[in-house]
Amino acid sequence: MSYNADNKGYYGEFGGAYIPEMLYPNTEELRENYIKIMNEPSFRKDFEALLKDYVGRPTPLYYAKRLSENYNARIYLKREDLCHTGAHKVNNTIGQILMAQRLGKNRIIAETGAGQHGVATATVCALMGIKCVVYMGEIDIKRQAPNVARMKMLGAEVRAAKSGSKTLKDATNEAIRDWINNPEDTHYIIGSVVGPHPYPDMVARFQSIISEEIKIQLQEKEGRTDPDYVVACVGGGSNAAGAYYHFLDNEEVGIIAVEAAGKGIHSGESAATSALGKIGIIHGSKTLLMQTKDGQITEPYSISAGLDYPGVGPMHAHLYTSGRGEFISIDDEEAMRAGLLVSQLEGIIPAIETSHAFAVFEHKKFQPEDVVVVNLSGRGDKDLQTYIDYFKL
Ligand SMILES: *Cc1c(COP(=O)(O)O)cnc(C)c1O
Repeated sequence: MSYNADNKGYYGEFGGAYIPEMLYPNTEELRENYIKIMNEPSFRKDFEALLKDYVGRPTPLYYAKRLSENYNARIYLKREDLCHTGAHKVNNTIGQILMAQRLGKNRIIAETGAGQHGVATATVCALMGIKCVVYMGEIDIKRQAPNVARMKMLGAEVRAAKSGSKTLKDATNEAIRDWINNPEDTHYIIGSVVGPHPYPDMVARFQSIISEEIKIQLQEKEGRTDPDYVVACVGGGSNAAGAYYHFLDNEEVGIIAVEAAGKGIHSGESAATSALGKIGIIHGSKTLLMQTKDGQITEPYSISAGLDYPGVGPMHAHLYTSGRGEFISIDDEEAMRAGLLVSQLEGIIPAIETSHAFAVFEHKKFQPEDVVVVNLSGRGDKDLQTYIDYFKL
């Protein structure tokens, strides 16, 4: 079985491109060109140079000694928290801005919920001197004021989506409307392995640098390229896709995906998409998503804004239904406790998204000789106020 996209963008029964006809020329231009452009030596050279000198790659693979002693396994942390802007998202926005340039686009649009993807997009637009418009729900603009300020400081225009629930899905609708109206000069940077084909596959390829580096680094440290397990948190699924990518076809490598159970899987306030999701279409892709009996998308909840997404990318829907991936749901409290523990055992304050991944060690027992790589998707500076309020620090 293949765990990568076929040439129509399907992962098993998931994926594809379910889009309004008016959007077809835009995605078609990208679909016809993305692999060709990514394989051009000049593209690879520019991408690798920026990842090295601007983002700070390769990020370290760090043996977490005290965490390993605590849980009696060989635990390594892939330090995406050390990337410029504090998380993995910039790997993708660097790739897509270079793609946009090759396609002759001089304007970028994006949508953002928590604001992290908006900041990563505004960052690369500043870097390249390209005009940037970020759509964001009116409610999210209020909730995520520091990220709105960052985007503005970086020169982006933030446009409020005022319809519907005034959150991420409304911002997405506005961005799609913009793209339909500006097919010639505009590229739409999607922030995770979601959206119509070819986005999930393209974003996974940009993020696959994570597992490419893990293989080299693990060879140096353990004398073998492949770990026993790779663990990552899943919002849309991009950091996880990047961490799994080069291990997907080796079934000896256990793939563990951690989702946010919010206040509990069955509390009505969660983002545990695989546990609760049914097949449906979101952002132009057939996948698993949380919905009501009549197919209306349910508003998700998690204490971590980055996992607060009602669907999951088609790669992950396929990993779940095929049984290739093991999916674990972690609630707010378990995640927050794991974040505090990692801070105090390793001197690393993780993003709350990543704290969900760390809580896996309370749920699953590993063997002492197991090599477990946790993708440390981002740093916790952005979440300090949430940690402070939660623990009354
Ligand atoms: C955005 C974000 C996530 C979730 O997005 P994915 O596409 O699932 O990776 C996870 N961790 C951090 C730190 C983030 O900023």
